Amino acid sequence: MTAFHEFELIEWIRSQKGMSHTNLLGIGDDTAILQPPAHSELLLATDMLMEGAHFTFPPATPELAGRKALAVNLSDIAAMGGSPHSALVSLALPRSRGSEFAKSVMQGIMELAAEFQTQLAGGDTNSWNGPLVINVAIIGTADQSHSIKRSGAQPGDWIFVTGALGGSLESHHLTFQPRVREAVALMETVTIKSMIDVSDGLASDLQHILVESDVGAVIQSKQIPISPRVSSELTDAERLQKALSDGEDFELLFTVSAEQGQRLRDQNPLSIPLTHIGKITAEQGALLQQTDGSTTPLENTGWKHQL
Ligand SMILES: [Mg+2]
Repeated sequence: MTAFHEFELIEWIRSQKGMSHTNLLGIGDDTAILQPPAHSELLLATDMLMEGAHFTFPPATPELAGRKALAVNLSDIAAMGGSPHSALVSLALPRSRGSEFAKSVMQGIMELAAEFQTQLAGGDTNSWNGPLVINVAIIGTADQSHSIKRSGAQPGDWIFVTGALGGSLESHHLTFQPRVREAVALMETVTIKSMIDVSDGLASDLQHILVESDVGAVIQSKQIPISPRVSSELTDAERLQKALSDGEDFELLFTVSAEQGQRLRDQNPLSIPLTHIGKITAEQGALLQQTDGSTTPLENTGWKHQL
């Protein structure tokens, strides 16, 4: 196993297909230089993933760990209605695993970066006797004053979620598709009033929209799209609970006016499922409505980021 050298890793990154000097804004220089597109606002986010907390080997591979570190950041850009622009990647590499391991982590990052037109603008690498830690800082862009916040939900809005929920922790959290293209497609069709990505679980992430918008919600239990990943050996109630509270689905949860909601329900502009799950109310709090019309408080039992 070869010892890890930062310089060698940077040279290797530069030599990779698609990583020409023109799209590397900063690697090899002291800082990256960013020319923001005219009439745009910049979106900045960062997320740190730690071996043992956010992934383990196995089922993760070095490539999948790297991929996930970028994917969670792309999901945050999608949730703001933005387009990814560039990313800074910092790695704390386990000394014992050598340089091939480091390249594999970067390979996972670079493949997803290419898929979503995200430029690797720089970063930092160190090695130590601890586990793998990956930090990605991402920069996205949105048309000026057009990024979507959690605070825009209004009473009467319909609540939608993309894809299906629950059971991500087995392996889907390593391979999920960040909903960047879906967010763009939705924005071309309707005016999204508030949005968040489902990272901690639907019940938990919906709360963020409700608190920031100063509103409440009623969710229809029979409308929740339960993922086929959720074990069929569980009871219906247990399956629903997992869809409501499992984390790391990274689907989009958003609200639109009732009129526009009807349009989305009539014609889904996405190639993945899109489900109307409830509506925003003036009355605070979140309720789960059963098919018989009875309601119970929607328990905020989000996942706490521990595997
Ligand atoms: Mg988020």
